[in-house]
Amino acid sequence: MVIPSKSHVALLASPGFGHLIPVIELAKRLVTVHSFSATVFVVTTNPSPAESQLLQSAASANLFDIAVLPHVNLTFPPETDIVTRMAVMMREALPSLHSSIAGMTHRPTALIVDLFGTEAIKIADEFDMLKYVFIASNALFLAFTVYFPFMGKIEKDEPLILPGCNPVPFENLNEIAFHPEAQGYQEYIRIGLEIPTANGVIVNTWEDLEGKTLCSFKSNEIMKAVIKIPVHAIGPLVRRAPSADSKSAVIEWLDMQPNESVVYVSFGSGGTLTTQQTIEMAWGLELSQQRFIWVVRPPIDYDASASLYFESKDDKSDGGGISRYLPDGFLARTSDLGRVVPMWAPQEEILAHPATGGCISHCGWNSTLECLVHGIPIIGWPLYAEQNMNATMLTRDIGVAIRPTGQPSKVTVGREEIEKMVRKIMVDKEGATIRLKAKELQKSGEKVSSKGGSSYDALSEIVKECEMNTLSQKAKFDIVP
Ligand code: UDP
Repeated sequence: MVIPSKSHVALLASPGFGHLIPVIELAKRLVTVHSFSATVFVVTTNPSPAESQLLQSAASANLFDIAVLPHVNLTFPPETDIVTRMAVMMREALPSLHSSIAGMTHRPTALIVDLFGTEAIKIADEFDMLKYVFIASNALFLAFTVYFPFMGKIEKDEPLILPGCNPVPFENLNEIAFHPEAQGYQEYIRIGLEIPTANGVIVNTWEDLEGKTLCSFKSNEIMKAVIKIPVHAIGPLVRRAPSADSKSAVIEWLDMQPNESVVYVSFGSGGTLTTQQTIEMAWGLELSQQRFIWVVRPPIDYDASASLYFESKDDKSDGGGISRYLPDGFLARTSDLGRVVPMWAPQEEILAHPATGGCISHCGWNSTLECLVHGIPIIGWPLYAEQNMNATMLTRDIGVAIRPTGQPSKVTVGREEIEKMVRKIMVDKEGATIRLKAKELQKSGEKVSSKGGSSYDALSEIVKECEMNTLSQKAKFDIVP
């Protein structure tokens, strides 16, 4: 066995575009800033075109190895919750992760797993590796997850008090909390209990954004007893748009718009609206008279059994059918005002563009951070999972977002409210504080990530631990001089 002189880390990513991005970005940072080498193990089933492209471009950048673990063929009954799906897929991948690590000529010094990979911590133990859990979300989400096994029954309409954190209103809790009967609930308890068995948690946030929650891990007695291990806030870690050889039509259009004049509307890699909501959104944008870019997907009609997650993404859609879902004449009337992009847009490029000034977002954490690093205020439009918790934090605690009065996953938000919200974040005087907050966070995100900043230092601590472990592995195992 050879222990390389340069520390080598293994990272494990669970399926899905939104899960893969932060893991790849973390690997990139460890390699480019801290001179590590890395292998990213990927579990993937039915990768979307965007996911495949992401893997391809990461592989061709040649910064680290990408190892796609053998595909496990699983079929789930349609009602299976998303936590269970993820947990089972990750569990099935464990034997091949184990044999891949055992077969590596260069033994990694640490294994970094994401939320759904915590069962792999045992494998790291076996190979004398350090182990970290990478929460590609925020500190509030981490607090909720580790406290979940101890929460007991959540009283309807009572806010959840996470020790040392701001209360979370009942209706805004991560939706897993509402389904104690689901297998996913038990899986989530397991994950909450496994996180503290690692050497540390890495979380994609920073002090200025979530100072109070981060502080609870260090100084609240109950939270300290629950989390047990150090929490390293290393964010904001986001994908930066690669410099494209050729510009897409939407970016060419953005080039012609005034600075901070365009609102970008998108609901993540899988979010969809209902038919009625799509119509109200169109009218709201048109009435606001603000420029827009809107990623439109075929709507699903809302009913109790319908999922708000669109699973069969097809990037090749020519968008020919999109006008079918929009009010009559919308595209013609708004041809000077905005652009509708079917299915999938180059989001990072759009948010990084100087012409973009606001975003209607589902509050997925990647999208949220992509907005914040570009100083963009948000209209929170949470649809599922922990997005409601994120929206609460962004509006109430951080003050960088506004949100509709009703929950978009439960009611149709009317055109007048949309019009008002868009005008507020883009131009109205009442939105000035929110716009200012977004700019402040942009600056603070840059500051903490540069040398000497809190997030830079937090990652450097892990780097040091890994280097120490490489040395001790060398002393123990290295038989090659
Ligand atoms: N995204 C994109 N184009 C789209 C929609 C989404 O590039 O049309 C990217 C977006 O930039 C973000 C990711 O998909 O990096 C979505 O991750 P997030 O955590 O926001 O939400 P999820 O899709 O996981 O719910």
